[in-house]
Amino acid sequence: MADHLLPDYAATLADPSLIDQLSSIRLRDAIPHALLFCGDEGGEALPLALAFARHILCEQPGEDACGQCESCRQMDLWEHPDLYLCYPVIKGDSREVISEDLREDFATLLREQRRFGPEDWRTLLKGGNKQPHIFVSEADHLIHITSLRSFKSAHQVVLIWQPETMREDTANKLLKLLEEPPEGVIFLAVSHDPSRLLETILSRFQRIDVPPIEEARLVDYLVSECGATPEQAYEAGHLARGNLLRAMRLLEGKAQDKAIDLALGLMETAMKRTPRAYREFADQAATLSRPEVISLIDATDRILREMLALSYGPEEIVYTRLAIRDRIRSVATAVPLSSYPPLMEDLSAARRELMQNASIKIVFFDLLVTMAMLIPKR
Ligand SMILES: [Zn+2]
Repeated sequence: MADHLLPDYAATLADPSLIDQLSSIRLRDAIPHALLFCGDEGGEALPLALAFARHILCEQPGEDACGQCESCRQMDLWEHPDLYLCYPVIKGDSREVISEDLREDFATLLREQRRFGPEDWRTLLKGGNKQPHIFVSEADHLIHITSLRSFKSAHQVVLIWQPETMREDTANKLLKLLEEPPEGVIFLAVSHDPSRLLETILSRFQRIDVPPIEEARLVDYLVSECGATPEQAYEAGHLARGNLLRAMRLLEGKAQDKAIDLALGLMETAMKRTPRAYREFADQAATLSRPEVISLIDATDRILREMLALSYGPEEIVYTRLAIRDRIRSVATAVPLSSYPPLMEDLSAARRELMQNASIKIVFFDLLVTMAMLIPKR
């Protein structure tokens, strides 16, 4: 979804035969007035429903939306007047909130995360412990916008993400509209937990189950689009059980582990106090990408902070991997308390230089020299 906010079929990893099915009902103009896409969180159900909405509204549809017409261009920017996205929100203290009010936040999620789940949305809403819901004011708004009949396309699409978060009063208010929407109005809904849906709502939708991504396809995608090595992709793809969001989280976890491993390597190298070891480490760092070296610096900073906390009390360090915990302890015993502030300053100076495109090799060599001066010889 890199260059457009809302996906077409090609940007989803949904089952090709399911896409064919949707594509064909669009082309035959046999679209049911209420379709419910069911699938797990972070899976293909939401992207597929969005791609279907795009296809429905396209002015020159082929097997997929054309990508060229005015409607498709408006979909690219999520500015189509005949598409309304509805999702759970957190109520403000004094006023009603509807999806439209949080459009910018939702656009951020679409722009920045290839896949996301309800928890990502809740985090972005910063509502603390409050649970997001689809409130009755949203039902009023939906009844209003679908009654205007001022749409420019042959259809108006309302897409409801997580209808399971609808309050009962909201659902009751929507029943009639869902049963008999005005001509041209199509309701799409995406549920990650259809068992929580009220029977009255469920019965008004035709249901489509969106299956997990086939493993081999997911593995290929992780290599070609997410920068994973074949081994990483194979492992994450297998453990993710056909879910792209889960696979990406597994890869991120691996990337974190790698950064922590390198960060400890950096400090251990400084403690060796030999220019040759510095040069080897700098050479190795230079084979990494710039984001990778930045996260190596950040991981080093994080570890220093944890070591500092450790030196003040008996608190357990958070790293669950024993090997890492032991390495942190052994570095921690070598670093005197007075060295923490200058070490952290050196790291942020190195980070700045790296951001300004300085040579990775030189930055790390210099960093090791100054770090060694702050860690006394044992
Ligand atoms: Zn089009």
